[in-house]
Amino acid sequence: MDWKIDLGTLRKKKRIVLEGILDLDCLELDMGKMPFLEPIKVKIVVARAKEGIAVGGYVKTAIEHPCTRCLTPVRVEINGTIEALYLPEETRGRSREMELENLKNVIYYSNPVVDLTERIIEAMIVEVPQQVLCRPDCKGLCPYCGVSLNEHPDHVCDKAPKFMVSQNKFEVLAKLKDKLEEG
Ligand SMILES: [Zn+2]
Ligand SMILES: [Zn+2]
Repeated sequence: MDWKIDLGTLRKKKRIVLEGILDLDCLELDMGKMPFLEPIKVKIVVARAKEGIAVGGYVKTAIEHPCTRCLTPVRVEINGTIEALYLPEETRGRSREMELENLKNVIYYSNPVVDLTERIIEAMIVEVPQQVLCRPDCKGLCPYCGVSLNEHPDHVCDKAPKFMVSQNKFEVLAKLKDKLEEG
């Protein structure tokens, strides 16, 4: 479905309702590209507001995201809210609009044909938690060999730095202490 809309046509009609499925391969996050597990259902209402054009709606889907600690794929439900106010470019910097800018997601446009796809993507991105966990008590991976500590809770790593290292450190400290006491 095409999410482009001509804001100019709103002079005649009062509001436009767009409802359908957004066609997108994956959600691009800082962590990487996350595939969708469900169709991206979107409903948007575009209406002429007192100032500018108000865009409101919701997006509902689910993505696959690796667990932040152990990288197991996790299903993350997305229930995003779309909210934006489109103002003509020439009104930028006017005091009334500056007030509005503090309240809402304001977008200035010079071309009245705008693509709402970006608004839908934004609404999905903010819904993804900073930390995605496969379970609340996920133990993560062994930092030395990468084995899953959920599957092997009693894992003792043979790649971990040897205990001797810390033992030596204590010996050095003990000797230093002796020296200081002698001196
Ligand atoms: Zn995990
Ligand atoms: Zn290990």
